[in-house]
Amino acid sequence: MNDSTPSSSPLSVDLVIPLYNEEEALSPFHARLCAALEALPHAFTIYYVDDGSSDGTLKQLEALAAADRRIRVVELSRNFGHQAALTAGLQQTKGDWVVTLDGDGQHPPDLIGEMLRLGLSGYDIVLTQRVDEEKVSLFKRLTARGFYALVNRIGDTQIQPGAADFRLMSRAAVDALNSMPEYHRFIRGMVAWMGYRSVILPYQPPQRLGGRSKYSLRKMLNLASDAVFSFSLVPLYIGISVGGLFLLLALLEAVYVLSFWVTGQQSSLTPGWSSTIFVLLVVGGSLMITMGLIGMYVGYIFQEVKRRPVYLVRRILGGEDKDA
Ligand code: UDP
Ligand code: MG
Repeated sequence: MNDSTPSSSPLSVDLVIPLYNEEEALSPFHARLCAALEALPHAFTIYYVDDGSSDGTLKQLEALAAADRRIRVVELSRNFGHQAALTAGLQQTKGDWVVTLDGDGQHPPDLIGEMLRLGLSGYDIVLTQRVDEEKVSLFKRLTARGFYALVNRIGDTQIQPGAADFRLMSRAAVDALNSMPEYHRFIRGMVAWMGYRSVILPYQPPQRLGGRSKYSLRKMLNLASDAVFSFSLVPLYIGISVGGLFLLLALLEAVYVLSFWVTGQQSSLTPGWSSTIFVLLVVGGSLMITMGLIGMYVGYIFQEVKRRPVYLVRRILGGEDKDA
């Protein structure tokens, strides 16, 4: 896609790519990325974020950065997770436009040209949406579908199903995102919350270029809980409503029992131990659920008020004046 950008001052476009143990996928991905960028007239800077990889990813990145001035490597001090790694990369960028994408080839770099074309036609944010997910495992598809159904049901901001952290943002949008200091970052939700002019670009997700998914079940659950608890107060209302319902039931039961006494039929009341204990259990259970939900929020508030940084950078490589 050749835009009519004057070659004297090409648009600067930054790419942010988080990597966690991607030694198998990295070199085919990088080759594909370079091929896609070759065709575009913009000035690209590639920010690879090494999210505490324990395999050969960092070694490969060091070699890449030494060979190509366009490449920066942001090495985090440990594994902070995908969303934190994206945040680390985004906060380094200075370009007019920023594209975030995964380093496993599932976010095809060939789409970057189309994304930029859309952005330049007057949008601040170009979102992407996975379609035809046959190549994605059934488990991923079902959990993703359930996840978006839940988040959109209870949250205030709507996120389109199949959304991924593959998007283009203008400088203004990136600055807005970087100005949001929260510790629990669910970037898809944060971007949806921001507003701005956005457009959705559908794409077919290819298979990983190598290695296995780095999103363990635990990481998926963490992301889901960040999405639910930092974007919605509905879980608290659920607890309160269930608690209220049980209070109402208790009142009805009291009235029912009292009616036996008023009509002088108290002797016909069987000693209802089992029902008493049943009610006690349910009420106790609903109280515990409510306490647990409140506890989740208290925990989230606790982590926010500590004002810990979202990530720590060990060092940044690349960008020095070297032969390209
Ligand atoms: N990733 C990361 N930190 C993590 C987990 C994943 O930086 O703790 C990176 C990973 O290297 C990849 C991207 O985030 O570039 C998406 O991860 P993955 O492909 O494993 O997720 P999936 O596509 O299976 O949802
Ligand atoms: Mg992937």
